Amino acid sequence: MTTIGFIGLGIMGGPMARHLVAAGHEVTGFNRSPEKTRPLVDAGGRAAGSVAEAVDGADVVALMLPDSPDVEAVLDGEDGVFATAKPGTLVIDFSTIRPDVARDLAERAAARGLRMIDAPVSGGQAGAENATLSIMVGGKADDVGAARPLLDAVGRTVVHVGPIGSGQTVKAANQLIVAGNIALLAEALVFLQAHGADLPAAVEVLGGGLAGSAVLTQKAQKMLDADYTPGFRIDLHHKDMGIVADAARAAGVVTPVGALVAQLVAATRAAGDGGSDHSALHRTIAGLSGEATGRP
Ligand code: NAP
Repeated sequence: MTTIGFIGLGIMGGPMARHLVAAGHEVTGFNRSPEKTRPLVDAGGRAAGSVAEAVDGADVVALMLPDSPDVEAVLDGEDGVFATAKPGTLVIDFSTIRPDVARDLAERAAARGLRMIDAPVSGGQAGAENATLSIMVGGKADDVGAARPLLDAVGRTVVHVGPIGSGQTVKAANQLIVAGNIALLAEALVFLQAHGADLPAAVEVLGGGLAGSAVLTQKAQKMLDADYTPGFRIDLHHKDMGIVADAARAAGVVTPVGALVAQLVAATRAAGDGGSDHSALHRTIAGLSGEATGRP
C-alpha cells in the first residue's frame, strides 16, 4: 500500500486516481475545481484543499495536468510539491509536457532530494476509465521500478523508454501519429459521404483491414454523429503539436505532414472548437469541402 497525492482530477486523472484506490492505495486528490474530487471521495479516496495538503505524508505524488506551465507551477510554485514533499518522495508526472521541461524539473526535484519520472499516457478517456493505458516511461531504472506497481494499476502497456524526458519524446511521436490518423479518417469520411456510400458499412469493413486503427475504432462514430464532446480536447492536441514542432526543430528533423495537420488543428481551435474532442478536426476538414457540420 502506497500513500499517494494525486493532483489534477480531470478526464484522465479522475479515473486513474480511482483505479489506484481500487488497487488498495491511499489516495488524496487535489484539483483546481474542487467539485472534481467528489468521484474520488465516493470511490474511497480523500479530497485535499491544496497541493500541500495532498502531498502531506505522501510517498508518491502523481500529476495529471494540462500543460508544462501547470506542471511547473504545481511542482515548483509557492507551497508546491518541491517545497512541501518529504525527502525521497517519488514524483510521477503523467501529464503530456515538453521533454526539455520534464528534464529541467527532474533536475530541480533531485536538488531537493526528490525523485521524478515522466510517464505520459495514451489510450484516451476509454483507456483511463478501463485502466488500459499505454504508458511511456522516462527516468532512472530504480525509480521506474518503484513506480511500476502503480503504473500497472492504471495501464496495460507500460514501457520504460529511456532516461527522464524520453517518455515525453515518445508521447510527442504518439500525438503526431494520432493527429495524422484523425485527419485522414475525417477526409475519408467526407470523401465517402460525397459518394453516397453506406458510411457504417464502410467503417466496418475499413476497420478490418490495414486502414483499421484505434483511432478509427474510437473516433469514426463520433464523426458520423457529429458528436464532438471530449474525450481529448483540441486545445490539448494543439499544445501537443507545438511540442512536436519544437522538439523536431531541436533535433534538426522535419515533419511536413505533421506541420500541415498542426495547421488544421489550429484552424479547428481558431474556429471555436478548442474545447471539443479532437475528432472535431472532421468539422474543419468537412468545411474545406463545403460540408457544414455546425459550429459550437
Ligand atoms: P482535463 O480534463 O482538463 O484535466 C486537467 C485537470 O487538471 C483539470 O481538472 C484541471 O482543473 C486540473 N488543474 C489544472 N491546473 C491545476 C492546478 N494548478 N492545480 C490543480 N489542478 C489543476 O485534461 P485531461 O484530458 O485529463 O488531460 C490531462 C493531461 O493528459 C494533458 O497533458 C493531456 O495532454 C494528457 N492526455 C489526455 C488524454 C485524453 O484523452 N483526454 C489522453 C492522453 C493524455 P479544472 O477543472 O479547474 O480545469
